[in-house]
Order: sequence, then C-alpha cells, then structure tokens
Amino acid sequence: MSENGQKGKTIEISPNITVRELSQIIKASPIEIIKILMANGVMANINQQIDFDTAAVVAAELGYEVTLETQAPIKEEDKGEIPLWRRVIADENPDELIKRPPVVTILGHVDHGKTTLLDAIRHTNVAGGEVGGITQHIGAYQVEHNNRLITFLDTPGHAAFTAMRARGAQGADIVILVVAADDGVMPQTKEAAAHAKAAQVPIIVAMNKIDKQNADQSRVKQQLAEIGLVPDDWDGDTIVVPISAKKGEGIEDLLEAISLVSDNMDIRANPKGRVIGTVIEAEIARAKGVMASLLIQNGSLEVGDVVVAGNTCGKIKAMFDYLGKRVRKASPSFPVSVMGLNDIPQAGDLFQVVDSEKDARMMIDSLNQAKAESESDQKSVMSLEQLFDRFQAGDVRELRLVIKADVQGSLEPVVSSLKDLDKGDIAINILHAETGMISESDVMLASASKAIVIGFNVQADTAARRLADSEGVSIRIYDIIYRLIEDIEKALKGMLEPEEQEVVSGHAEIRAVFRISKVGNIAGCYVTDGVLHRNAKMRVIRSGNVIHEGWISSLKHLQEDVREVRQGFECGVAIKSFDGFIVGDKLECFSVEKVAVK
Ligand code: GDP
Repeated sequence: MSENGQKGKTIEISPNITVRELSQIIKASPIEIIKILMANGVMANINQQIDFDTAAVVAAELGYEVTLETQAPIKEEDKGEIPLWRRVIADENPDELIKRPPVVTILGHVDHGKTTLLDAIRHTNVAGGEVGGITQHIGAYQVEHNNRLITFLDTPGHAAFTAMRARGAQGADIVILVVAADDGVMPQTKEAAAHAKAAQVPIIVAMNKIDKQNADQSRVKQQLAEIGLVPDDWDGDTIVVPISAKKGEGIEDLLEAISLVSDNMDIRANPKGRVIGTVIEAEIARAKGVMASLLIQNGSLEVGDVVVAGNTCGKIKAMFDYLGKRVRKASPSFPVSVMGLNDIPQAGDLFQVVDSEKDARMMIDSLNQAKAESESDQKSVMSLEQLFDRFQAGDVRELRLVIKADVQGSLEPVVSSLKDLDKGDIAINILHAETGMISESDVMLASASKAIVIGFNVQADTAARRLADSEGVSIRIYDIIYRLIEDIEKALKGMLEPEEQEVVSGHAEIRAVFRISKVGNIAGCYVTDGVLHRNAKMRVIRSGNVIHEGWISSLKHLQEDVREVRQGFECGVAIKSFDGFIVGDKLECFSVEKVAVK
C-alpha cells in the first residue's frame, strides 16, 4: 500500500469484502457506506459481501482509489464534505442536467430582521400567487424575479440550517447573511458566516435597517471585512446589498444579486434522474396525519411514489405546494408538503424514492442495524487520534477548529500560534474564534463541520457538554498555550502521511499442491506459527528467497471458506495471480498498517 503524497489515497482490498470490512479499511462509518450503496442502487446490510467493482465505486466516493495489486495510485480530487444529493447529481448523465432554481437560506443575528425580510420577499414577489396573497407555511417558498424562480427556505435562524449540515445534507446553494446596519456584526453573524464558509456556500450580505437614523453602513462594512467578508465596493468579493426589510426597500436589488451569484454557479439537476432531496420540516397535522415538507434536489417526485425519509417511509398520497395547491409532480428545487409518511422524519434527513415498500423497509432495517452497531462501537467522545482518522476517511486534508478563550488578549496568541503550525498541504482551518464560554452553538458548528472545540481558560456549559457527548464532538480545554499547540501538532502529524508498518501474523509450510481446474493451484498448508488471515497478503519463500508477494484470494479449512486459520491446523491457500507453488515452500502472512509519524 502506498501514498503518493497527493490528495488521492490508494487502498488494496481483496476481491470480495463485507461492508463492515470496507468501513474498517477506509475508516468510514458503515452507515455512510450503506447510504452510498443505496445511492448507487445496491441494497446491502453491514455483513453483506460486495464485489470488487462495487467496493471500488463506494471507495471512490469517499476519495479512495482501490486496487487489487500494488500499483501507482491515481491522483484524486479532494472531495471534502460533499452532500450525498450533490454526489447523486454528479453521477447523472451531463446531457440531461438542466438549470434549477437556486435554493437560498437566510441567516443572521437575532433581531437583525430575518423574518421581516422573508415576509417582505414573500409579499412582493411570491410566484404563482396574488401579490400579498396568503402562503402556506411549508418551510420554503418560491418567488419569481425576471421570469426566473428562486426558492427560499423560510425557517429563519440557523438551527435548521445547522441540523441539515450536521446530517451532511446541506440544502442551500446561497446564504443571505442579514446584518442590521445599526447593530453591526454580532456573535451569531460570525457564527452564521462560519457555517456558510465551512459548507462552501457563497454569502450575500443584506445590510438591513438602513432606514434607521443610527445606521452606519461603513462601520458595518469594516466589521464585515474583519471577518473575511470584504465588500465588493472595497475590492472584495462579497456582494453587500443595503436594504430596509421593514419598508420593502432594496428587495429587488437583493433578488438581482441572487440571480447574479447563481449565474456564476453550476445550479443544475436532472428532473428525470434518481429522486433525492432533503426534509425541511415535518409535523403531525390534525386530520391529515404526518405532513412532511420536502425539498426536491434531483429527479421529480410524484404522487404514488414510495419514499424513504430518514428512518421512516411511506407512499405519497397527496402533495401540496406553498400556496396550498395540490400538485401531482414536483421537480428539482421545488418545495412540497407531502402526506403519506408513516412517521415524522427529522429536519435535515435525506429522502429518496425507492421501487417498492419492501425495498423501503429493507433500506430502513439495514440503516438501523448499521447505526446500532456503529453506536455500540463508538466512544462518546473522540480522541484526537480518532478525529484525524475521520479526516483521513473523508479525505479532508485540514484540521478544523472552533476556538473559545476567556479574553481577547489570550485568543489572539492562541490563534496566531495555531496559524504558524499550518503545514503545507494540511491546513488548520479556524472556523470560529471568539471569547466566552463554550456553548451549544459552538458544539453544533463543530459537529456539522467535523471540527474540534478548543477552550483556552474557559469551560463548556452543561448543555454544550451534553451535546458534545451525544454528537461525539471532542472538546479540549487548556490553560497553557504550549500544551495546546503541542497537542494540535501531534494531531497534525497523525494527519500527515502516515508511515506504513508491516505486521507479520503467521507462517505456514506447503505440504501438497492441488490443481483445481478454472481456479489454478491451491497450496495445501500446515500453519507452523501464528495465524493466517483471509484479508491479508502472503509472501512465498523458497530456499530463503521471497519469490512472490500478493493478496490471498482464498483461504479454506476442510473445504469451507474461513476468515483465519491458527497454528497447528491445515488449510488450503490460493494467492491472487500466482500458482507456482511447490511442496516445501514457506508462506508468510502479513498486513500493512499505517502509523502516525512520531
Ligand atoms: P429576526 O429575529 O432576525 O427574525 O428579526 P425580525 O425580523 O423579527 O426583526 C426584529 C425587529 O426589527 C422587528 O421589530 C422588526 O420590525 C425590526 N426590523 C426588521 N427590519 C427592519 C428594517 O429594515 N428597519 C427597521 N427600522 N426595523 C426593522
């Protein structure tokens, strides 16, 4: 196994591998693998064997190149944190992709005017309805601007957005960050910006309340520049649109800015493709049963379709749009409220259409099984070591941090010493740095962004600790800067190219060679010490010289396929692409493990 020092990683696997084994090799959760298999139309549970080609597809989605033999790894693009629905679109036939409306979410500090802005947009431009007409609350609506549609998620506050990101299903293409011109950049403004940046979603700033006497636009622009959102009229690349949501001023300019930004993005989907999307919200409504608002992200959802959403499923009995009108079909970027699910999914869950209710139940069973198993394996809080394993599994070549310190005077040296640690291709990405206690929202940000929370001379409040436990987020608290730096440095080293270490597990002696037609030669062996493992490599040694090294392709004991054979037992061994065994050869079974650079 080798690393080429570039972003792609190569792993070697045997021709047949179970979901669990693959998850262990690439250090991804089995759920993630099952989800990718499902997205590729394969139903599998955690113990199921998948063939080499299927494993290669899954591994490629997680940023790994798979080989059967040692060969030069191929450079792969860093996939980062790409939501599943985006990967589904990426796999569609490019000729069938067409433009879809951009999906926009509004974030910002409390009282800066998010709700007022959403109302103002809804009342001036709602698509398909009377101006000022009553829209149904389904968590999203659409407006028309210059004959083009824009979809707005209208659950203000970033709780919903964070929940979506935490489940890897982030739904928005563009974030509108509302900042009140009289109040300026506040903690939640920074947090929202950090979320959007970590999700790589472009930000448009709506500078609100410009009608107020104490509005100070240039002060706010200065503050925006300080958090990395340099306004376009200051030669930066963040569009800042002055508005008054209350008076309905600047709304057209804001919609124009959205069109402009979306024109520069690849906002497309295949309306005829696999149906996948995100649950916006769900509730039990009197007389109607479970009502779930869904945002379609690829394919077209139709009445009668069988849907799996998170942990639940059902056949769609009826669908309504944001005007309360019944619809039979909904295409990409359209929000609909659907009737027919058996239970309430969670906001941020992915949904997809499957062929039958039987498939739906199978899918849910295997997700539940995988979840139960990975929960029982998982320690509640991750160590730095486990954390960098996750970075490697996701091929994320950066260590993401949320930093809290007691005072500005200690925050600055912590941040600048961490930036000094930045090592070439592995970056330290400080998502958020602020003074104050570690709060629930810091943990949320870390969980959604696969980051760790660092506290310097501060503690985490009870709610933050509880959430960190349930989400598996690591909180590390320090009172001496060099200890903090030392620990992060260790983590970085672990993330740097790990060294490979060979582990020999056992030896065997060839006592007979059997010729099996179509399969080739099988070595009849006696295990002299240790143990031979099925998913390992074998060295063939003749008169003290290694004559071949390769993967074991079959390991049998008394005609049965087995995972391992211990000292004192006999077995049949076949090696991939080799059958020149002779009686008297010795076999050495070994595997290659990665260890952190010391
Ligand atoms: P949210 O918490 O961000 O959703 O903020 P709201 O939309 O609830 O607005 C908070 C307060 O600011 C309300 O009293 C609004 O009437 C007021 N407000 C919102 N936009 C404007 C504006 O453009 N100008 C003025 N003067 N007040 C506004």
